[in-house]
Amino acid sequence: MIELREVGKRYGDVAAVGGVSLQVEPASITVLVGASGSGKSTLLRLINRLIELDSGQILLDGADIRDGPAEQLRRRIGYVIQSTGLFPHWSVARNIATVPRLLGWPAAEIDGRVDELLELLGLDPAQFRGRYPHQLSGGQQQRVGVARALAARPSVLLMDEPFAALDPLTRQTLQRELLRIQQALQTTVVLVTHDVDEALLLGRQIVLLDQGRVVQAGTPRQLLLEPASERVSSFFGAGALEMRQLEFRSVAEIMQTGEAADGPALRPEDSLQQALTAFLSSRSERLPVADHAGRSLGVVRFVDLLDPPR
Ligand code: ADP
Ligand code: MG
Repeated sequence: MIELREVGKRYGDVAAVGGVSLQVEPASITVLVGASGSGKSTLLRLINRLIELDSGQILLDGADIRDGPAEQLRRRIGYVIQSTGLFPHWSVARNIATVPRLLGWPAAEIDGRVDELLELLGLDPAQFRGRYPHQLSGGQQQRVGVARALAARPSVLLMDEPFAALDPLTRQTLQRELLRIQQALQTTVVLVTHDVDEALLLGRQIVLLDQGRVVQAGTPRQLLLEPASERVSSFFGAGALEMRQLEFRSVAEIMQTGEAADGPALRPEDSLQQALTAFLSSRSERLPVADHAGRSLGVVRFVDLLDPPR
């Protein structure tokens, strides 16, 4: 659990973060969204003390993050940025091993951990361990960046627009993988994005920032269906046209037959708008489709809803 209490950070006359109070639930994904300059990156850097706050307090599992040296805190917190920050002259294995080496893990344990992480991120260890960052695609580099951040089993992972530089297909794949990994490891993730779809897909909690302040924090459903102000609805309004289209498309159009899933069943004639609501409240990636008699017909995948095949 991360708790921010009236956290403030100024740069000269600019309140980059101006009195932000927030709770980040453990083992879940909180997404920070907002326009460029709204304070998202600053907030993230305050949490791992890359920069120090001017006012307020941040608690990690009940303890003030300023109790103890910043380096020690940072080893408990993974950090992933858009440009990966991989060391260009280090192999993939050496990059991933950065923090475990700092912590003095035995070599054999580090080697084992590197292979485990490469496999977790879908990279064949035999093939990728010895490569250098320039020998990797953008998506592979970002996978290595995530593996490096997870190396010392941090309980918290901070991600600043981690997928923004990737092509849409790779981005979508890595978003799904992040969900899978986060669920498997039960990591607490705070992720920054300016992509509304990404926020809706990944966030258990979404926090909309504007000029260093929280406009609204809540579930995707709350921000979409109970916006606290005009600012919230206009921020999510970019997707409004697609949302309107969802009203006129049916579950039957994107249903996959011959598969089964758990959760509240949809009907084939339900609109994709109704399906979206069901996904947001159940937080499932797949929902079953059944007929009036409750007979299973197939499933609908959330990913197909966001980008329905035409
Ligand atoms: P975001 O990540 O949402 O785009 P930032 O957190 O990077 O926003 O920036 C918030 C505000 O703080 C902006 O007005 C930005 O210009 C200012 N700012 C951020 N970092 C610095 C810095 N190192 N020096 C001066 N101003 C900064
Ligand atoms: Mg930023």
